[in-house]
Amino acid sequence: MLKVDDLHVAVEGKEILKGVSLEVGRGEFHVIMGPNGSGKSTLALTIAGHPKYKVTQGKIIFEGEDITEYPPDERAKRGILLAFQVPPEVEGVRIIDFLTQVLGEVKGIDIGEAYELIKKKAEELWFKENDLRRFVNVGFSGGERKRLELLQALLLEPRLLLLDEPDSGVDVDSLSVISRKIEELHKKGVSIILITHYGRILKHIDREDLKVHVMRDGKIVKSGGAELVDLIEREGFKAVFGGENGE
Ligand code: ADP
Ligand code: MG
Ligand code: MG
Repeated sequence: MLKVDDLHVAVEGKEILKGVSLEVGRGEFHVIMGPNGSGKSTLALTIAGHPKYKVTQGKIIFEGEDITEYPPDERAKRGILLAFQVPPEVEGVRIIDFLTQVLGEVKGIDIGEAYELIKKKAEELWFKENDLRRFVNVGFSGGERKRLELLQALLLEPRLLLLDEPDSGVDVDSLSVISRKIEELHKKGVSIILITHYGRILKHIDREDLKVHVMRDGKIVKSGGAELVDLIEREGFKAVFGGENGE
């Protein structure tokens, strides 16, 4: 479904990804780990088509089509969704209007139908009808932001969902509901690439389903199964890389 082939990416002239290759099949669950600055977010943003990230070598194939040069909206239409690590605050845009517009654009759902769908899914993620009239992410807690990202993912049911640290800055209760909703999307057959530092967010996913990759300095240096998550949680990245602190 997704084939990232020898991807080199530069931001403002600096090479950040230095030859990443990754294949994701339909319904597969991939986990990306790695120290801060190793290029995890860059990989996700490049797959989603963020204009700041320039592919200097290699390519991204999605469903047999070379999307390396496609703008973000063309990728979204094909079913690629990135839930942002730090979603922007959008003053003046209400959640309900934002989600209605996205559902219309990406899935062609009309306004009346969208409203009912949003309300129903929002409740599952603990948003009340009133909350939907708040401005996108303005004054949101970490947990609220992440739940809103998951709400967007649940509504759109993308083919490929990129989750960048859905567990960062999230309280225990939100973590639990987020983890369950990720499981729900996985069960529906959505392909997932999840960036995380912690195994907790994965606790509802079958261990045998996990394909884990560890990044370091712009490359994937090790791939394996759930045992890699355990090892890193127990002993840190040095257990994978060797050396003092894994840097
Ligand atoms: P990670 O998500 O693994 O912490 P990132 O992909 O965010 O790593 O960053 C990898 C490297 O690229 C870091 O050295 C970071 O400073 C740099 N970088 C990432 N995004 C930008 C950007 N928009 N502008 C400048 N440098 C960036
Ligand atoms: Mg980081
Ligand atoms: Mg990051």
